[in-house]
Amino acid sequence: MTHGADGRVVVVGAGIAGQQVAFGLREQGYAGAVALVGDEPGAPYERPPLTKAYLRGDIGPDELEPRPAELYRRERIDLVRARAERIDRAGRTVVLDDGRRLPYDRLVLATGARNRPLRAPGGDLEGVFSLRTRREADALREALAGAGSIVVAGAGFIGLEFAAAVSAHGHKATIVESRARPLGRAVSAHTAAHFTSLHERHGTGFVFGEEVAALHGDRAGRVREVELTDGTVLPADLVLAAVGAAPDTRLAEGAGLPVDDGVAVDARLRTRDPRVLAVGDCASMAPASGTGPRLRLESVQNALDQASYAAERLARPDEGEDAPPYGRLPWFWSDQYDSSLQIAGLAAGHDRAVLVGDGDEAFSVLLYRRGALAAVESVNRPADHMAARRLLAEGRAPTPEQAAAPDFSLRAFARAGG
Ligand SMILES: Cc1cc2nc3c(=O)[nH]c(=O)nc-3n(C[C@H](O)[C@H](O)[C@H](O)COP(=O)(O)OP(=O)(O)OC[C@H]3O[C@@H](n4cnc5c(N)ncnc54)[C@H](O)[C@@H]3O)c2cc1C
Repeated sequence: MTHGADGRVVVVGAGIAGQQVAFGLREQGYAGAVALVGDEPGAPYERPPLTKAYLRGDIGPDELEPRPAELYRRERIDLVRARAERIDRAGRTVVLDDGRRLPYDRLVLATGARNRPLRAPGGDLEGVFSLRTRREADALREALAGAGSIVVAGAGFIGLEFAAAVSAHGHKATIVESRARPLGRAVSAHTAAHFTSLHERHGTGFVFGEEVAALHGDRAGRVREVELTDGTVLPADLVLAAVGAAPDTRLAEGAGLPVDDGVAVDARLRTRDPRVLAVGDCASMAPASGTGPRLRLESVQNALDQASYAAERLARPDEGEDAPPYGRLPWFWSDQYDSSLQIAGLAAGHDRAVLVGDGDEAFSVLLYRRGALAAVESVNRPADHMAARRLLAEGRAPTPEQAAAPDFSLRAFARAGG
């Protein structure tokens, strides 16, 4: 069955979420026109390898691109390489920076997030990099060839994965982090400690509890030193600013749509204007229950699942309030050296942690919030991760006491039906 043969969907942002909305519409049998507007040069690509295999040089640019150009033609997805400057909601038109105007019946904002700049004097010196786009990864790859001392500001996933990737070429980075441990509130203390010692074993240095106060350069304007808040000076000829990202809400704000740490959407991913949806890193979603905090996630799973959900809704425009709210379980992964971390659920705010496994090279941590299982972190235990996803999705869980038993197995618990 085909739907909406006369319609026209415009998707702004050709990242993973935008691509998935466009192709998801075709998977849903949507027969109307689909335009995907992206402002980055080249073919749409995926970001995760930029801190991993691509940075190490193990894969080339083609392997970043999940879909060949031919597929866009075959699926009649009009890939528009331009920047969307403005939304004319009254006229249902997107205005591009090259003057073109794209009419829409439904509009999806998939504008993603932008890296926060390093707000310190000297943050704009040559040799100071950011890592989010393929272009930035290419610049880094080139600069790394001649780099000596490397400093990373921020021990989040990007900073840690970068340090792991460059160590494959013999570079030992120093990571400066304002908190007392890496990965902020995204993981438990046990998992944070695992990644700290893993990196230290590979030669990465950490300075916790300090921030970059200033960067000093030479006469040519190239960075040479990083000064920390305690006065320590680190030599540096390459600095990566990995201090987090902020949602790109400019288009939504310009169009008068509410923004609240992201483009504000309801539990069906609709902005206040029901013709305009938002998905992925840029979207801040209201809880389905109507009460509680909004949720904005920066992960591939969230981008893909929200995009698939939006495509389903757009292909069935008559459902309205009958459509089930978005409700996919969040999960995430990160690869560093030979440690593969997978997280099911959301760890933030947990008040109890139970360790399962050998606790060193392969383990899972079950995280409870007010007695309920909130998340499971698994390091090199993919079967535990799959079991955790199943349990969390089904609303089943071992009690903390069950999980703490010496012979406890998450897989066996999931298989046994709880
Ligand atoms: C280096 C790196 C490594 C990562 N690794 C992992 C990982 O291992 N696991 C994981 O789960 N997640 C990872 N992530 C996060 C993940 O990549 C993001 O959550 C995901 O890419 C979000 O997709 P998105 O489509 O919502 O946004 P984005 O990927 O940010 O795409 C948005 C696109 O919209 C474009 N755009 C914005 N405004 C306009 C406009 N007005 N007109 C036209 N185009 C516009 C932007 O230029 C961009 O191309 C990583 C991120 C980075 C940067």
